[in-house]
Amino acid sequence: MGSQQSMNRYDLVVVGAGMAGLTAAARAATAGQSVLVVEIGGEVGGSARYAGYAWTAPDREVMDRANPAGDETLRHALVDGFDEGVQWIASMGVEVGASQRILDFGGRGHKFDTNQYVDNCRRKTLDAGGAVWLETTVDGLLTDDGVVTGIAVTRAGVAQDVLADHVLLATGGFQGSPELLTELLGPAAAQMPLRSNPRSTGTGYRLGVAAGAATGFENAGFYGHLIPSGVAFTDADFVDLSLYYSEHALLFNLANERFTDETLGDHLTTMELLDQPESRGLLIADERVYQQWMLGSYVDGAVAVDKFALASKRGGRVGKAETLSELAYLPEEWGYDGTAIATAIEEFNAQVATGEPTPGRLRDREPLTTPPYYVIETIPAITFPFQGLRIDKNARVLTDLGDPIPGLLAAGSDTGGLWRRAYAGGIASALVFGLAAANTSIAGKAS
Ligand SMILES: Cc1cc2nc3c(=O)[nH]c(=O)nc-3n(C[C@H](O)[C@H](O)[C@H](O)COP(=O)(O)OP(=O)(O)OC[C@H]3O[C@@H](n4cnc5c(N)ncnc54)[C@H](O)[C@@H]3O)c2cc1C
Repeated sequence: MGSQQSMNRYDLVVVGAGMAGLTAAARAATAGQSVLVVEIGGEVGGSARYAGYAWTAPDREVMDRANPAGDETLRHALVDGFDEGVQWIASMGVEVGASQRILDFGGRGHKFDTNQYVDNCRRKTLDAGGAVWLETTVDGLLTDDGVVTGIAVTRAGVAQDVLADHVLLATGGFQGSPELLTELLGPAAAQMPLRSNPRSTGTGYRLGVAAGAATGFENAGFYGHLIPSGVAFTDADFVDLSLYYSEHALLFNLANERFTDETLGDHLTTMELLDQPESRGLLIADERVYQQWMLGSYVDGAVAVDKFALASKRGGRVGKAETLSELAYLPEEWGYDGTAIATAIEEFNAQVATGEPTPGRLRDREPLTTPPYYVIETIPAITFPFQGLRIDKNARVLTDLGDPIPGLLAAGSDTGGLWRRAYAGGIASALVFGLAAANTSIAGKAS
């Protein structure tokens, strides 16, 4: 232990320099541990560079309601550790905004500059004597009689072994792997455009499984958002072309039917759409929704973009109807029956006026009656899967029997169990369990 070890032995080796990995590295290094971060890309930051808010459920009760099927220990650990995590962000010299509401279910969080945060974590790690190796490939875990003892890497064409008391897997999930998506989320999942850094291809997942890790939960789903179909979707579009306003619109599948309560959240509707025929649907808003939500920002402090104009400019399947009956003129090749959809909207309008529509409508129960109508065909895009390596609240990777694998930690989107067809903050979980991983390493809890 200690930082006086030979160059190829560390207290903590972190695989992946994103939100979880850099949080753990900075925490462990500034506490006096010897730390090496290994990153496959040419820069640090991962998907965290696109994010803007650390947020989650404000208390256990709201978390339990929003994410009832997630692992109880993990979901409570996230809520309990959140405030300390936010203080940690501030301690890295990053300004943290005032507490604000995030999403209608009652999430709360803080705006902060994630780019400054990851850059500061990297600098603090280096200043404390740690090392960050970019463009480095992990070839496998080193193990000795069931204990993880380090990693085998290739750096600048040279293969070498690096020994560690703890290895933290923090490669950000497997959304960049069509094979793992097909295997674990089904073939349609592999067709989804990527809404994340492109390098999270399941290395952490594979290394963990090879070391005997339990995974889960099956059918837990994924985090993502609806985007217009038919557009070239690049990282400059990740926020601008996410159709967050779907929570106030109506979504129809190829059978011309609503299939979910859209008001539960765009990220949840995204999961449901994946399971619909051809994983595509028509999102329809009226002028009220356009003015209030399609033009507005999805959360206070975010930039507002005219989603309809942008989707149209980028060549998406969009249309504007002056009346509901004009929906009959939807292009035939899209495959929808516009007359049937117009009838379904009229039925919806009548149902919300007198009672409960089917499927239900928990929040925005206003009818769509103010022309014109804005139509965008939409598909799901994936940010990260909810299925991953099972960990305990100390970020120790668990076997099927629930025992920690000595020396092996995981945090962030490489982990599973926390979210199960529900979601309340990827930055928060990477932060809280990244800190937990560092604390485990510091405490020397290898087993
Ligand atoms: C557009 C967008 C907006 C978002 N906004 C928010 C938000 O406001 N709030 C929020 O809570 N969440 C948000 N998220 C989600 C959030 O960014 C992620 O949940 C979070 O970054 C996950 O942290 P992580 O450390 O697991 O993964 P990442 O931050 O993605 O880091 C993973 C790192 O591992 C590296 N890596 C991958 N494979 C290897 C390998 N084989 N070897 C070494 N390194 C490897 C990657 O290059 C990357 O640097 C957003 C995501 C996107 C894409």
